[in-house]
Amino acid sequence: MPRDAKFDPLFEPLQIGPKTMKNRFYQVPHCLGAGSERPGVQAAHRGTKAEGGWAVVCTEACSIDPETDTEPSTVARLWDQGDVINLRHMCDAAHAHGTLAGVELWHCAQEAGNLDTRIAPMGVGPLPSDGALQSYAHQADEDEIRFLINLYGEAAKRARDAGFDILYAYGSHRALPMQFLSPRFNQRKDSYGGSFENRARFWIETLAALKNAAGDDCALAVRISIDQLLGPEGVETFEDGLKFVEYAESEGLVDVWDVNITQYMEWGEDAAPSRFQKANHQAPWSKHVKSVAKKPVLGVGRVTSPDDMVHILSSGQADIIGAARPSIADPFLPKKIEEGRLEDIRECIGCNACISRWERGAALVCSQNATANEEFRRGWHPEKFTAAPNPGGVLIVGAGPSGLECARVLGERGYDVHLCEAENEIGGHMLDVMRYPGYSEWGRIISYRQTQLHKLANVEIHTSARLNANDILRYGAEKVVLAVGAHWAENGFNVVAMGPLPGADASLPQICTPEQIMAGKDVGERVVVVDGDGYFTGVGMAEMMADLGKEVSILSQYDSIAPMSEFTLEKSNLQRMMHEKGIRQYTNQWAESIEPGNITKVAAHSIWRDGYQRTAGPKSGEIPRRAGDDVTMLECDTVILVTGRVANHELYGDLKSRRDEWQGEGIEDIFQIGDCYAPRMLADVVFDGHRLAREFESDNPARPLPFIRERYIQGQPLPPVNG
Ligand code: SF4
Repeated sequence: MPRDAKFDPLFEPLQIGPKTMKNRFYQVPHCLGAGSERPGVQAAHRGTKAEGGWAVVCTEACSIDPETDTEPSTVARLWDQGDVINLRHMCDAAHAHGTLAGVELWHCAQEAGNLDTRIAPMGVGPLPSDGALQSYAHQADEDEIRFLINLYGEAAKRARDAGFDILYAYGSHRALPMQFLSPRFNQRKDSYGGSFENRARFWIETLAALKNAAGDDCALAVRISIDQLLGPEGVETFEDGLKFVEYAESEGLVDVWDVNITQYMEWGEDAAPSRFQKANHQAPWSKHVKSVAKKPVLGVGRVTSPDDMVHILSSGQADIIGAARPSIADPFLPKKIEEGRLEDIRECIGCNACISRWERGAALVCSQNATANEEFRRGWHPEKFTAAPNPGGVLIVGAGPSGLECARVLGERGYDVHLCEAENEIGGHMLDVMRYPGYSEWGRIISYRQTQLHKLANVEIHTSARLNANDILRYGAEKVVLAVGAHWAENGFNVVAMGPLPGADASLPQICTPEQIMAGKDVGERVVVVDGDGYFTGVGMAEMMADLGKEVSILSQYDSIAPMSEFTLEKSNLQRMMHEKGIRQYTNQWAESIEPGNITKVAAHSIWRDGYQRTAGPKSGEIPRRAGDDVTMLECDTVILVTGRVANHELYGDLKSRRDEWQGEGIEDIFQIGDCYAPRMLADVVFDGHRLAREFESDNPARPLPFIRERYIQGQPLPPVNG
């Protein structure tokens, strides 16, 4: 189907400096975990988006020199010719589809940490980092500033040689140019500090160095936090922000503006989770830049709706649709709009699992797109599937995220799939999660797959179909996939004790699991949430209860409530929310026991209550330190157990115990996927279902096939170092 004419503005070419964008879709720089060390992953990930219709694809932040190094978190590097060779693959992959390649040249001073290169970085001042522990910058004098600017220029030459079309002087968040501009960081008294012109000087001279290095071969992009959200302490829109836009343009040093907001410690205000910000949340800032800029402006904000995109252009908010997460969730988003296949768009759910994995030092994953980061190493394409050589009948039991994804991919591959769900709706535990405060967008996990499955004539969905082992054995399927999920422990099973919590019994009226809460079990006025899980459910329960006007406490063994939220960039606003809603936090605390009654008591204790000095020598039957026994009694009416998840493995156990019947019933094999195998993050259970379906004919589909590992192999020629 041809595209709707109302989307034509999205496909108009646009000139940025010496380069032409073929349309208005621009994948802004975002971390991947490939850097320059995994050129295959880098090229295939960006190249897939180029194939999917993006006019521009960019690297993540790209370190210009060993001066700035974020190990163990991977960013790109342009330190030497080896990096040029590796990143050239990405440029070639982009160019093969008429797409421009951008590189985000980056220096971050004290914020980088330099754990690997061990260089004390130069910076705007002798400042400590509030992100990288034990990292201070050395204040660059004016000679050293010239040295730093030259580093940018040399990196720009290498970038041009690699084939990049767009060179960034990355200043967003808290990169070095922004530290110079921001009065919070720049307390210098020389010609690089004080007045606006002085504070802008470093960035302007850096842009000039990029222009000198690349000439007319490349367009110059500036990524700017137009507002650091620090008030007068930092860069504000109507103060230094818009002034800088006008100043840099008057110097002729910018071809395109890439606008966002905030700074490192509040990065979640930019890459905002859907829990706190809806799509296009940065519009109020980008439209101010657009109102003063003469050069094209792009903004971001997790925009996935083509109608919203058209509105962004027509309303004068921006000229270009910038996207990071929407491009990860659906690398073919532009193509799908162009081909009039809007219902096929796989919309980002704003969970920030992608960011969380990178923040933990690993490579990107995606809850919606299981092929993200797997394009090269597993050879997966987000839109193409190998036809099954001998497709047979497959029964999938359970239509949660993993079962739905497995059914989708097996269906695409030509299998005759029957997907049976015990409940009267598909979605599994996502049906609960999407009703937690702020989580409605997570429902896209279900709706996308529902739409796709309805298009597949070879996939049947049966709801209200609760199957037991007998039913499954006699179903007539050749292969069976169990995707029956997990449940919250009803006995308080938890990681602290590696066992149940004495007194915890969710069959009692005073004690609830999250499933029971969502099913409407009665809750008293005073609620204690016991959260051993550390992700979104405990804090979600606490917020729901607070919203009902309950007096809420949440207790966790971790240093902070929901520590996983630090990696998903939700932590700051979760903390603000709990503060604002009066949710009392007990951290580094665990429950020794629960006494249900008219007044229910939770015996809480510090996890550090034992003596700090070890007593001499081993003894049986006791720990080698003074055993603490002090507890604090938390009185309440209801306890919500978010202590741990338990895989629903009984069905597989029943079937396995009847292994000798499988062949007689025509069953070749039975597999487990998703949470019923082991409870995990959403992205990982979706991956699980996808992977099994991709590798369904392998010798042992239960185990993943090996994937390509890009690494140096001892004894093989060393990669180039300098030159
Ligand atoms: Fe969007 Fe979540 Fe995928 Fe990230 S992991 S791109 S936030 S769906």
